[in-house]
Amino acid sequence: MGTTFDVTVYRPSTESASADVDLESAFDVVRKIDQLMSLYRDDSELTALNKGAGGGETKISAPLADILQASVFYTRLSDGAFDVTVQPLVDLWGFYRVANAAIPPEGEIKKTLETVGMDHLSLDKSARTATLDAGAKIDLGAIAKGYAIDRVIAVLRERSVPAALVNLGGTVRVLGKAPGHRPWIIGIRHPRENRLIGEVRLERGAISTSGDYDRYFEADGQRYSHIIDPRSGQPVQGVYAMTVLAPNATTADALSTAAFVADGLDLLVECRNVSGLKIEPQNSGDQGTSPDTLLFTVTSEPDFPVRAPFTSYEHPSVHPLISTIDHSAYRDCVWQIDH
Ligand code: ADP
Ligand code: MG
Repeated sequence: MGTTFDVTVYRPSTESASADVDLESAFDVVRKIDQLMSLYRDDSELTALNKGAGGGETKISAPLADILQASVFYTRLSDGAFDVTVQPLVDLWGFYRVANAAIPPEGEIKKTLETVGMDHLSLDKSARTATLDAGAKIDLGAIAKGYAIDRVIAVLRERSVPAALVNLGGTVRVLGKAPGHRPWIIGIRHPRENRLIGEVRLERGAISTSGDYDRYFEADGQRYSHIIDPRSGQPVQGVYAMTVLAPNATTADALSTAAFVADGLDLLVECRNVSGLKIEPQNSGDQGTSPDTLLFTVTSEPDFPVRAPFTSYEHPSVHPLISTIDHSAYRDCVWQIDH
């Protein structure tokens, strides 16, 4: 997946041999998912599916069928802000090799948009087949890490691991309590500087951040980053980062990307069991203010185990966005993983 993977497993010291096996099983899971879902491998199942676009049905594995189903769910939930058929746009803008990235001509964007959209993918879950229209391609970069983490957690659970932290490229899920029966402390990066701006205390579940600071290029004084609005074909601007806390990592990963595109917390505020933190420039759009001044907004989720999850180190005034919707009207935004 072209990213870093770390697992910390806590076991009594008498069980260190088991801990070695735990770690091996965890790495196995990630390796297998990468073999299936990587766009950077010629031999992955996803590459085969993309190559078969326009040529009828392709047989797919259970995990790929599973993650595509989850993707359909998050596209519907976000009104198309999250869309794994965004691949041709990511390619057009050059984000697969960001050193060569550049602004494409408007006409090319328009043309490419015609190949993007979940209506170009049909799934038959029981027959385990997928069909992609000619020109359409899938990129699971916004959800596969979360999915892999959830699979790792399932394996660690089966192995009766009492406590663990799994981090795949910045998406994290925890199992059990941190040593000393404490919540896990997860640092939140400053979007423009090499330091942390705060922390989240995670009692359980997962956390994921989508930001504009890892893969981007600059042109004409503007920053263009790798998350694209699949409806306009343009990289999303005006948000620095979106962090989502959710019961599982698939949800946290998909929703952090979805909320980044949807430019806000409105999507998250309606979600049962989900919390969000948005980091944006203060008074974005106002020429007079410095883009270095950060504005934090958090959603308040009465059901989520962590009440006030975010502590800022320097910005005591974090704006809570409190949902006014009726509790019974909360949406179910958590994909229940099939295994
Ligand atoms: P990261 O990969 O940095 O953890 P994300 O989880 O937000 O960040 O995934 C971003 C990646 O997902 C992009 O690099 C691209 O491959 C893909 N992508 C870009 N825009 C979208 C989108 N609107 N919906 C789904 N996937 C997207
Ligand atoms: Mg994501």
